[in-house]
Amino acid sequence: MKMVDCDILVVGSGGAALRAAIAAQEAAPELAVLVATKGKPGLSGVTANSCSDRMAFHATLPYTEPGTQDAWTYHADDIYRIGGKVSDKALADVLAHEAAKAFDYLDGLGVPFVKKNGKADQFVTDGSEYARACYTGPRTANHIEQSLVKRFCELQIKALEYTMVVRLIHDGKRLLGVVAADTREKQPERSLFIIRTPAVIVATGGGGMIYEHNVFPGGMTGDGFALAYEAGAELVNMEFIQIGIASTKTKFNCSGSMMRAIPRLINSEGEEFLAKYFPEGTSAAEIANTVFKKGATWPVSFEHKTHVIDIALYKEWQDGRKTYLDFSCNPVGFCFDWLTEENKARYRREMTNDRGDAARNSLPLERLKEINQPSIDWFKEYGIDLDKGDLIEVAACAQHFQGGIKIDRQARSTLPAVWAAGETAGGQHGANRPGGNALLDCQVFGRIAGEAAVEYVRQHKRQMPLTPDAAQENILREALKQSMDKLNTAGEQAMDAVEFRRSLQQLTEQYAGIVRTEAGLRQGLAKLEEIKQRGFACGEKGAAYCFENQSLLLTAEAVLRAAGERDESRGPHLRFADYHDNVAVARNDAKWEKYIVIRKDAAQMKLEVRIPSAE
Ligand SMILES: Cc1cc2nc3c(=O)[nH]c(=O)nc-3n(C[C@H](O)[C@H](O)[C@H](O)COP(=O)(O)OP(=O)(O)OC[C@H]3O[C@@H](n4cnc5c(N)ncnc54)[C@H](O)[C@@H]3O)c2cc1C
Repeated sequence: MKMVDCDILVVGSGGAALRAAIAAQEAAPELAVLVATKGKPGLSGVTANSCSDRMAFHATLPYTEPGTQDAWTYHADDIYRIGGKVSDKALADVLAHEAAKAFDYLDGLGVPFVKKNGKADQFVTDGSEYARACYTGPRTANHIEQSLVKRFCELQIKALEYTMVVRLIHDGKRLLGVVAADTREKQPERSLFIIRTPAVIVATGGGGMIYEHNVFPGGMTGDGFALAYEAGAELVNMEFIQIGIASTKTKFNCSGSMMRAIPRLINSEGEEFLAKYFPEGTSAAEIANTVFKKGATWPVSFEHKTHVIDIALYKEWQDGRKTYLDFSCNPVGFCFDWLTEENKARYRREMTNDRGDAARNSLPLERLKEINQPSIDWFKEYGIDLDKGDLIEVAACAQHFQGGIKIDRQARSTLPAVWAAGETAGGQHGANRPGGNALLDCQVFGRIAGEAAVEYVRQHKRQMPLTPDAAQENILREALKQSMDKLNTAGEQAMDAVEFRRSLQQLTEQYAGIVRTEAGLRQGLAKLEEIKQRGFACGEKGAAYCFENQSLLLTAEAVLRAAGERDESRGPHLRFADYHDNVAVARNDAKWEKYIVIRKDAAQMKLEVRIPSAE
């Protein structure tokens, strides 16, 4: 049995994982910190790969609006209140209070934040009251990742690349280690090995691949949720997934000025389809103003009426029609004067290139040239030439998991010796997440997790035997065997592993995507149970792919069950009395200012509705 030893294991190599590993190694140079990651630091995961028109890092700095000493409390309040009061207020406080420190650290590492007169340039993002979003441009996350990788290398922290952690070995009181798989080895016997460690920080990001349409890079299969859940930790807020309009080909979010240029939204039959989904009698001007507003309310949210656009995209897809943004032609009858004074003023503020009234009225492309030429250049680079009239195929795509492994102020999960940070953690964000707080979250709770793990390991190191006793050795062997066995359960009805994944993604999107109904969610769970019972044969795909399928299955089940429980609308969770309704049921604060906690109970998924801490 191959074994690797370390004092602190960090799982993942995105923004949260790297920050955690760096914090741990800086605090305790004497400890062996090890990173195990499916890919390579700097190359795998969302932080390394995602991109949008302007990626935001939210932070309250000494000069941030409203400019008072307690400015961070407004930030915390936005996270909690705009989040829908379904998160732990204490975690919002930590996030906001520690933001300046997190920014300073990254700034010190050389992240090229845009500055004016020596101060970070900050803008207002969706879901926040004040201008707090710092940025470097479309690739803020990648700049953060690369700076962290540089520091990580300076500290000579060891990394096991192409290593997928597939199981935490925990006896309820302490962590003994993890089972890991070498992702390059297809045979389970050659792939699996043990990493012995007394402390683990799970920073494996979200699970966007449960959906057919998502803007996550490959490998984001919700492994952290599955690892923690299977070991006995609690998950929270799993029904809240940020979903918004994105290009299916490039995974580029079509927010901000892309929508403020008022493109025509057409389907594969050439039909301008939006009007079908608005209440009867809605004027074309009102629809155009809603499209404009979508620019500032990118993620689907019950609290923003613009969610009708996401409903429309979703239903067109479910009816078998693709959907496109067309910048080569105005919506029928459109003229710039249709926009409200407020929207016109917003448009003018964004203009970098005045092409004149005639051009502005003529085409969405002309408007986009006035307010965001770089997006045209960017799409061209990726093979979509808007100047030549190319359409951008779009869909409502999953982008971020607001919930995850339930953590406390110390980033501790509910299991001893297991911490979680970044997108895989939950309880710090509510139903709506003000833009920019995810990248911040990784830095704040990543650091906290790293430092807390050091404290734990130092405290406990003396009490731990230097070499594991025979009983421990047996537990590790048994865990490895069980992981191996888990891959060999396919019965006669077993599906092909690829087909299994596709079916799972389709059913999650269909029943737990934009339009959620009680009947649909029940049907979704029944279908999920059916494919779970059939199982899948690993075949050519190898061990890691199959473990990923198991993570997807667990994550999808948690999302479906939590969504089934919450019989109201809140944030991205839109519940409908009937699939054919285009108006979602109301938010019910009296009943639902609560979060849903999920844990494993005798092999069953147990859901518990709890009141979040408001302090
Ligand atoms: C298109 C897009 C735009 C976004 N824009 C913004 C924005 O403007 N502002 C903002 O705040 N947020 C934004 N987000 C969200 C934000 O970027 C992410 O939430 C954040 O980067 C996640 O970082 P992370 O470290 O938690 O996970 P990731 O960066 O995804 O890293 C996860 C790591 O874990 C590894 N891993 C996964 N499973 C395993 C396993 N079993 N074993 C070992 N390793 C594993 C992966 O390979 C990867 O290295 C955006 C997201 C997307 C997709």
